[in-house]
Amino acid sequence: MLSSHGDAVTWFSVPLGRLRVRLHTMVPLVAAVLVYWAPGIGLRYLLLLAVLLLHELGHALVSLAMGGARAVVSLSPAFGWADVTAFPDRREGWTALAGPAINLAVAGALALGGAGLDWSLRSASPTDFLLTISLVMGAGNLIPVKPADGGRAFSAFWPTR
Ligand SMILES: [Zn+2]
Repeated sequence: MLSSHGDAVTWFSVPLGRLRVRLHTMVPLVAAVLVYWAPGIGLRYLLLLAVLLLHELGHALVSLAMGGARAVVSLSPAFGWADVTAFPDRREGWTALAGPAINLAVAGALALGGAGLDWSLRSASPTDFLLTISLVMGAGNLIPVKPADGGRAFSAFWPTR
């Protein structure tokens, strides 16, 4: 459904209790154009969106489960982000790790199912492509440098002050 706020033209907004999922209106437009003009690339774009969404939902759901007041997941044509409660303790670390953890779990499950690494936009099978981008998204975000998730987790678990 469309958001009832002033940004209704820009975002599709779905309230799910304390969680709100926002989809930039350009996302379905870009997806539709790609699927129409280049179905193979369109399919891989949809897979990338799914990987982004899972990553941000991981942050949001773990934050809510640990007592976060509310969470907003946003998906733009090229980025995703989660606005979650800032915890002053280790819960911040678990929230940060949840996004990459979901991606790595998906990559692991696909690997167990026989998928391999292949990120060719043209020739990779959907499952190989999904495994590859899940692995890159999961592992890439774990580098222990802020603002990456790994950096946020590192400073939550081992605060310097
Ligand atoms: Zn993240």
